[in-house]
Amino acid sequence: MPDLEPLTLPTADAGTAAWSAWLSTRTDDQLAVAREQIASLKADRPDRAAELLDRWNGINTALSNAFAASSLVQQVHPDAAVREQAEQAQVEAHRLLTDLSLDRAVYDLMVVDDAEQRTSGLDDDAERVRNVALRDFRRSGVDRDQATRDRVRQINERETELGQAFERNIRDDVTTVKVRPEQLAGLPADWVEAHPVGDDGLVELSLEYPDVVPMLTFATDREARLTVATAFNNRAWPANDDVLVELMNLRQEHAALLGYDGWPAYDAEVKMIGTGDAIAAFIEKISTAAEASAVRDRDIILERVRQDRPEAEAVDGADTRFYIEAIKREQHSVDAQEVRRYFAFEKVRQGLLDVTGRLFDLGYVQVDAPTWHPDVTSYDVTLAGQPIGRIHLDLHPRPHKFSHAAQFTLTDGVTGRQLPEGVLVCNFPQGLMEHDDVVTLFHEFGHLIHHVVGGHQRWVRLTGVATEWDFVEAPSQLLEEWAWDVTVLQGFATDETGTPIPADLVARMREAEDFAKGLTTRTQMFYAALSYRIHQEPPADGAGIAALSRELQATYSMIAPLPETHFHAAFGHLDSYSSGYYTYMWSLVIAKDLFSAFDRDDLFAPEVAARYRDRILAQGGRRDAADLVEDFLGRPFGFDSFATWLAQ
Ligand SMILES: [Zn+2]
Repeated sequence: MPDLEPLTLPTADAGTAAWSAWLSTRTDDQLAVAREQIASLKADRPDRAAELLDRWNGINTALSNAFAASSLVQQVHPDAAVREQAEQAQVEAHRLLTDLSLDRAVYDLMVVDDAEQRTSGLDDDAERVRNVALRDFRRSGVDRDQATRDRVRQINERETELGQAFERNIRDDVTTVKVRPEQLAGLPADWVEAHPVGDDGLVELSLEYPDVVPMLTFATDREARLTVATAFNNRAWPANDDVLVELMNLRQEHAALLGYDGWPAYDAEVKMIGTGDAIAAFIEKISTAAEASAVRDRDIILERVRQDRPEAEAVDGADTRFYIEAIKREQHSVDAQEVRRYFAFEKVRQGLLDVTGRLFDLGYVQVDAPTWHPDVTSYDVTLAGQPIGRIHLDLHPRPHKFSHAAQFTLTDGVTGRQLPEGVLVCNFPQGLMEHDDVVTLFHEFGHLIHHVVGGHQRWVRLTGVATEWDFVEAPSQLLEEWAWDVTVLQGFATDETGTPIPADLVARMREAEDFAKGLTTRTQMFYAALSYRIHQEPPADGAGIAALSRELQATYSMIAPLPETHFHAAFGHLDSYSSGYYTYMWSLVIAKDLFSAFDRDDLFAPEVAARYRDRILAQGGRRDAADLVEDFLGRPFGFDSFATWLAQ
């Protein structure tokens, strides 16, 4: 078998025509391949189910390629024309996927196999692929009457457009705010230096994380924090109100057409959690478990706020980060400005590669591969010396780029056909990083490793992160633990003079991190409840969304809402995770249990890391996530490790 080659991309300065042509080969051409293969499948029915599945796999590989390139490029490419082409290509890919999922002739080919006993001899993976395909066909409505299928087709198309509009409005919001120079009091000197005073005597700030997070964490001037927090929580508003209302109501109609009691029931059917009701129950279970510690955290913060503002009645979004930071500094002796001296970006990136390389026996060789922007660094990845894929790290902000942090697929791995390639798209500063940023980087890299290590399957439908979607945050949240370990950190976190971060500082950071855990958990349940309820009972207008958001914030969060803010408008997960924001906490419960198998005194212990890599990551979606976890732990996963962590 010939060695598989990674893709060759145009260079960053190749120009619109070159990028357009390349994108077309990854989208239009791949969709043409898929169309041709669908037609030939229908014209010439294979004799055996095994052969039919092989051809099904080819169709899905071509579709996956078109989805991967279009999803990534629209979020990262600096050229607006190329981003627009990518959006259009994604619409086309969705259209073909919808057509295929409603194609009665293809469904019939697959469904008659059992009756004709053509499925004998399928191995477990092939059997799983077949079952997943039949399940997806039924969930798409292929066996419904013509009128239903026509309406589902219309809805699918509109859902795609609305999802794109929602994300575009967030990405393209380039609002800035201005503050007076003295309002930067409290910010680190290197940060102030990078934010010069303009001709109008004011300092202009973007709403990207490297500006917003330090302002909310360090600015001693509450008015300045309020200005930034208010603008940040109005990104993409009011533009996204109508988009959300239409999208939520369409999803509701979509689920009802297919016989489900709401979108969450439809969406949860293919998740570990199983039902919509179970989402509501899970949110209540976690909220109750976190109640006492969240109230305690809130009271400590409010008491500290009142030292500065005796009239304060609640903790709000302009104060939360600042006072959590103050408490960590004053009561736990952790000064984030002292901490960040040890986290220079270049050292952290190299440290991350060294740590994950040692842990999982991975090698990373930096390659001078062309990409869409000079900021991107690319590496070939090896496992035990054998090439297993390529990764690209796009880690700094720029205008019109995806503004959060996520892993994107460039190619899904298919054995013998194509290497897995993944991309991290994040927004970290170029210089010194907050420790929170370091944790985020480890988190996202957990997804990337899952994509590459798990990306060696014969079946594209089972490759990489293709597990149940509410398990997908477990490997990433597990890897965060390494960013809190003193031995791990001392391997790369050194200050300007090369002195490693002191062990007692890391100990205090961990102790301080335990503070506000209950409060954070309740905030997460606010987000989870909003994502669930906005889908279960879609509001009729933007005011309805704002009212629902306020009601749920009052119920679950310990933080008071800021007046005249609309955070839901830029809550990107409402598109990508729909009613499933609970996923993070669900996965965290599992991640805490997975971590219990590791030796906390030696996080590099090779046996357990290799077992985790081989029995969970490398399996991709070959088995149900609960079974993979049980295979690793030697028992089913449970709630105890999480409850212990929460009570600490
Ligand atoms: Zn994640």
